[in-house]
Amino acid sequence: MSSLKDRVTTLPGIKLQFNELSLRRRLLVSQLPLLISVVVALVITAVVSPAVFDSHSYRFALVLLAVLTAACVAVPWERYSPLAYWCIPVLDFAVVGGLYYEGRNSITGLSFLAVFPVFWMAWSGAAPRLAWILGYTCTTLLLWTPLFMQAGGVPTLTELAAPLVIPFVMLGIGIVISTMEADTTAQQKRLAATESELQASLQETRRRSQLLDAVLETVDVGVMAVDAAGRTILMNSRQRSNHALAGLTNGMDTGSDALIYGLDQLTPLPEAQRPSQRAMREESFSDVIVWVGTGDRQRALAVCARAVRENGTFAGSVLAYSDVTEMVNALNAREDFVSSVSHELRTPLTSIMGYLDLVLDDEETADLPAHLLSALQVAQRNAERLLLLVADLLTTASGTMHLQRSETDVAELVRVALESARPRATAIGVDLGCDCEDELHALVDPARIGQVLDNLLSNAIKYSPDGGKVTVRSRMEDGNLVLEVEDTGIGMSEADQREVFTKFFRTGQVKKAAIPGVGLGLVITKSIVEAHGGRISFSSTLGAGSTFRVEVPA
Ligand code: ADP
Repeated sequence: MSSLKDRVTTLPGIKLQFNELSLRRRLLVSQLPLLISVVVALVITAVVSPAVFDSHSYRFALVLLAVLTAACVAVPWERYSPLAYWCIPVLDFAVVGGLYYEGRNSITGLSFLAVFPVFWMAWSGAAPRLAWILGYTCTTLLLWTPLFMQAGGVPTLTELAAPLVIPFVMLGIGIVISTMEADTTAQQKRLAATESELQASLQETRRRSQLLDAVLETVDVGVMAVDAAGRTILMNSRQRSNHALAGLTNGMDTGSDALIYGLDQLTPLPEAQRPSQRAMREESFSDVIVWVGTGDRQRALAVCARAVRENGTFAGSVLAYSDVTEMVNALNAREDFVSSVSHELRTPLTSIMGYLDLVLDDEETADLPAHLLSALQVAQRNAERLLLLVADLLTTASGTMHLQRSETDVAELVRVALESARPRATAIGVDLGCDCEDELHALVDPARIGQVLDNLLSNAIKYSPDGGKVTVRSRMEDGNLVLEVEDTGIGMSEADQREVFTKFFRTGQVKKAAIPGVGLGLVITKSIVEAHGGRISFSSTLGAGSTFRVEVPA
């Protein structure tokens, strides 16, 4: 606040500082110019006309000046009405009159001392018009008094008119000073308003910055912001520990010895691929995983970055680092578990299938009663299915998919899929319908496309627990094989729809309803379709049903 005032060196500044004084001091300061000028006049009188000191009017003026000056500080003016202290400048005219009365003939310009009370009253700004009237009247009176007191009685009109320029000059000075004062006061008010606005916004900025600090220190995420030149402008303590873990001392992750690694936890990440370097290239990204540190203390961080722009120009970037070590470890453990269990299952299963094949291929088996033969065939079919499921689990764990394409009648695959799904559909009251071509030839992996149909059909039936209608459509469209499975089941919310192709994802709704499943069907379906160079899409409405659509180049 004071710094702002100190900077103001113009007239308003003087007024600001003057106004800070107490009323008595202000009166003394206002009286000082007259006092000093009178002292100078006395010195001149002593040199020019010492005899004047003996006159009554001169002595009266000096005593009055001393009394008025003392009154400035001695009287408790604050207790009286605001204009009470004006008696001092008004009586100052009498001081000037006393000096002028006797000294006018020997010392020039004594009447101009009246400018000080005129200035005082006008500058106070209290009652400008009254100040002009008083200034004009008192100056006229002090000039006319000697004329009335002179020997010879009443002065002539010419004598009275002769000194009248001076009161007019005083009036002019008074008006100019009042105007300046009004202007200064207005400026002062504007300054005060601006200052209080500045104060308010400063306070708001401080409050926000404290809030931001508190938020940054509360969140369990490392946050840092860099400017366009790469200098760190903000970093919370969480991020400082991440930096320490990476062996970084400066703000940015520069330097070839930084302990920042790729997904294998071993290969140092090239500098250009480090998150903050990418952020400096104005990239915005989400959930980029990096490993930081070494040994037991190594942590996985998911990094998000957003470029900050000012008027369209890159001004820096904000980076957030979340510790996802536990999650990444859990995912790795789950995949390891899935893959080792699948391996373990495959060996006995292959053996079961081998023996079933042997039995079914044996000539003597043909003589078995029909119900035993059919039981063996069911066992073989289910063993094959189980083997396929195990293969799926392995595929998901390893992320590879091998296709064996052949010229296939997809219409036949649809018929088989519908037939094998019918018992389940009938059991829960789902009506199965087909809007299919009789023949549809395409170069695809028949087992895999059959698996796609099985998955989509089984989902459509499974997720229509209250019955309904499931329709399969198959056709050729612009050289693409199109398969659609529509149901009138439970559907999915928009949030769930974003996750359906995520491994092991199952909606809360189906988990609550205890509908069996592991959350791999759609992931595998998608990888089969994509391995064929096709794509899978769907639309769904919560409570109204879903339609899955597969498009594969024929
Ligand atoms: P699973 O069926 O074994 O749970 P999926 O990968 O086939 O696994 O499906 C993942 C999740 O997507 C399901 O758990 C279910 O919540 C939802 N979902 C899939 N298909 C449908 C459908 N037709 N209607 C409603 N929800 C579905």
